[in-house]
Amino acid sequence: MEISKVYFYDNVSNLKAGVNSFFKMIVDECQTEEAVGIKIHFGEKENDTHVSAKHLSDVTKFFKKPVFVECNVLYRGNRLRKEDHIKQAHDHGFDFIEIDILDGEMGEDYIEIEIDTKNTQKAKIGRGIKNYDNLISISHFKGHIVAGFGGALKNVGMGLGSRGGKLDIHAGVSPQIDTVNCIACGSCAEQCPADAITVDDYAVIDQEICIGCAQCIAVCPEGVIKIPWGNRPANEFLEKMAEYALACVQNKNWWYINFLTDITMKCDCVGTRQQPFMEDIGILFSKDPIAIDKASMDLVIERNNGVDPFKSHNKNSNYILKYGEEIGLGSIKYDLEMVK
Ligand code: SF4
Ligand code: SF4
Repeated sequence: MEISKVYFYDNVSNLKAGVNSFFKMIVDECQTEEAVGIKIHFGEKENDTHVSAKHLSDVTKFFKKPVFVECNVLYRGNRLRKEDHIKQAHDHGFDFIEIDILDGEMGEDYIEIEIDTKNTQKAKIGRGIKNYDNLISISHFKGHIVAGFGGALKNVGMGLGSRGGKLDIHAGVSPQIDTVNCIACGSCAEQCPADAITVDDYAVIDQEICIGCAQCIAVCPEGVIKIPWGNRPANEFLEKMAEYALACVQNKNWWYINFLTDITMKCDCVGTRQQPFMEDIGILFSKDPIAIDKASMDLVIERNNGVDPFKSHNKNSNYILKYGEEIGLGSIKYDLEMVK
C-alpha cells in the first residue's frame, strides 16, 4: 500500500499564512493560466463555524483565475437556488472572486459521469465541473450526523453532486409528497423533466417514471415535497458518497486542504450557531483525499483524549476511508510532515 504525504500547519493564530504556504505548493506543482476551481462550503445562514473567507483572501496572488465552485443543496434553505446561494456566499464574505454554481439555477444541470463501482454506475455531478481540470477542495473538518465526519470526501463527493445526485446518495428513491398539505398548484408537474407528476386534488409522483432529479423539491412553494432521508442503509450511504467523490476526481488534478478549526459536532448545513467542542488544531494539505481525512480524524481523536467524538453519529468513522481506498481514491497510510 502506498504512503501518501499529508502536510500539517499548526499555527492557529495565523491560518492565512498556512493556506498561502499550501497555495504556493500547488503553484509550484502546477502553474496554469486556466481557471482553478476552489470547492468550498459557504455555510448556511446562521452558521459561523464554516471556513472563514478571510483565510483565503490572498488566493488571487497565487492563481490567475481562481473561482469558487459549488452545487446547490438538496434541502430547503438559503443555498437551494443559484441566486440565493451566491447571495449567501457574499453575505459570508466570499465576494472577492467569481462564484460558479456548477449545477445551474436550481440544481437541474448535471452530467452523468460513468464509474464502475458497487452502487454507482452513473454519478450525477454538476455540469460545470467539465470546465475545470484543476481543483482545490477546502473543507471544514467536523461531525456529520449521517456520515460520522465531514472532510474532503464529503466536500467533493456530496458537495459536487447535483441536486439529483445528492438525492441519489441520501435516498436513492423518489421524493415523497405530503398530500395533506399539497395545495395542488401544479408547479412541480410543470417543472418535472420526466412528466412523472400528475396533479388532481393533490400531486402524485409516478415512482416508475421519476428519474430522481429532485427539481420538484426546489419549486414547491409549500415545501411539502420531502426527501426520504435515511432511506439508504448507513454503510451504503457512505459508499455512495465515496463513489461520487471518485466520479469527481477522475481525470482531474485535485488538491485538498482541511481546516481542523471550530470543530463542531454537526455540519455547516445546520442553520443555527454551533459551539466548537475542542481546541483548534490547524490545517492539513494533501493530494490524497483519503489520507487527509484519515490524518484529520486521527488528530481529532488524539486531541480529544483518544476518543472519537463523532462515534455517536456513526459507529465506524473508518468505514468510508477503507471503502474509498478500496475503490482507488487514495491511501489510508500517510506520512505527516509539519509545515512552518
Ligand atoms: S418527480 Fe419529477 S421533478 Fe421530482 S424528482 Fe422525480 S423526475 Fe425529478
Ligand atoms: S408544487 Fe407542491 S403544493 Fe404545488 S402541486 Fe406540487 S406538491 Fe403540491
